[in-house]
Amino acid sequence: MYKIMTAGPVQVRENVRMARSLETTNPDLDLEFYELYKETCDILNDYMHSKGRAYILGGEGILGLEAACASLTEPGDRVLVIDNGIFGKGFADFVSMYGGTPVLYSADYRNPLDAEALADFLEKDSDFKYATVVHCDTPSGVLNDISVICPLLSQHGILTVVDSVAAMFGEYVNVEESCIDILCGGSQKALSAPPGLTMLWVSDRALEAMENRKTPIAAFYANILTFKNYYEDKWFPYTMPVSDIMGLRAALDNAVADTDILARHAKIAAATREAVRKSGLSLYLESGYSNTVTVIEVPEGLTDEQILSTVRDRYGVMLSGCFDVLAGKVFRIGHMGENANEDDMIMTMDALDNTFADLGYPLRASLKEEFINSMK
Ligand SMILES: *Cc1c(COP(=O)(O)O)cnc(C)c1O
Repeated sequence: MYKIMTAGPVQVRENVRMARSLETTNPDLDLEFYELYKETCDILNDYMHSKGRAYILGGEGILGLEAACASLTEPGDRVLVIDNGIFGKGFADFVSMYGGTPVLYSADYRNPLDAEALADFLEKDSDFKYATVVHCDTPSGVLNDISVICPLLSQHGILTVVDSVAAMFGEYVNVEESCIDILCGGSQKALSAPPGLTMLWVSDRALEAMENRKTPIAAFYANILTFKNYYEDKWFPYTMPVSDIMGLRAALDNAVADTDILARHAKIAAATREAVRKSGLSLYLESGYSNTVTVIEVPEGLTDEQILSTVRDRYGVMLSGCFDVLAGKVFRIGHMGENANEDDMIMTMDALDNTFADLGYPLRASLKEEFINSMK
C-alpha cells in the first residue's frame, strides 16, 4: 500500500472504513434511513452556514457540478463561466451540454481571480442567469475568494454555483454570507471519505429558478429537484448508496469534532510552501495558494513521470501529476483532510528529498528539514 498524498482521493480514517462495513438496511423502505440521511444533511448545512437545503447524491463529485448546470440551465441561457483554472473552464462543457451559452471570463491561471476586474466587466455585461466559480482549482491549487466574488455576482442578480470540492473542510466556507446558490462538494477530498458521493447545498433562490423553468430539466440522475420532497414523501429518486452514506457520516462527525481543522491545514500548507521555496524548487502559483494542495513545477531536465514514479516505487508515497494544459508541467502534494498531518508530510518531504537526490537533481536545502523548521 502506498501512502496516498494525492490531491484527492485522500487517506480514509479507520472509523470511516468501519462505518462503511456495518450492516445495511433497505434505504428505500427503512424510515430510519431517511432520518440518518436528513440528520446528515442538517449537519452539512450547519457546517457550511447554509440556510438552504443540503443533499447527498450517489455519484462522485463531478455529478454535483453537472447536476447544478443541468438543473439551472435552460436552452439559450447565458452563463458566466469564470475560467482561471482547468476546472473553472470545464464548467463551459456542462453549460453547453444542457443547451446554455457559456460566456468565458478568462483570467490568469497563476493568480486568484481579481474581483475588481470582474466588477468592471459586470458593469458592462451582467445578463447572466448564473455564474460558475471554482473555490480551489486543484490542478493549479489557486484559491479564489468566493466571499467577495459571489456577493458581487449576486448584487447583479446572477445566481452563483461554486465548486468547492477541493477546498471545503480545508478552507472556510460560509454559504449564507457569501451568497452561494449552489455549493458543490465531494466525499473524497478534505472530508476524507472514499470517492463516490457528491454533496450539494442549494439556496431557496436556486430552487425557485429550477421550479420556474419553462422547459423541463433534461436529466434524471442530475436533476436536483427530484430530491426536494424526499423527506416528506419518503421517496428517493433512486436507491441511495447506504454504505457510502454511513461512511460519509462518520467522516463528517470526524470533521465536526476536529475544531482545529482549518488552522492545521493553514499551518501545514504554509510550511510546505516555505520548504519548497527554500529547496530551490518553484511553486506554480504567484499568489492565492489553497491550503489543501501545493503545486510544484517540474524542474528543467526532469519529467513529472520520473519524479512521480521514483517517489512512489522507491519511497512508497503517491503524489499527483496533472492534466490538460498543466500536464507534465507540475506535480502536486495533496495535504488535505486526513493527509493534513505533520507525520505524513514529513515522510512525504523526506521521500521527495531522496527522490531528487536519486534523480541527480540537488536541492538547495532539504525539504524535510525546512518543513520541520517551519512547523515549529
Ligand atoms: C476532485 C475535484 C472534482 C471532482 O472531480 P474528479 O476529478 O472526478 O475527482 C471537482 N472539482 C474540483 C475542483 C476537484 O478538485
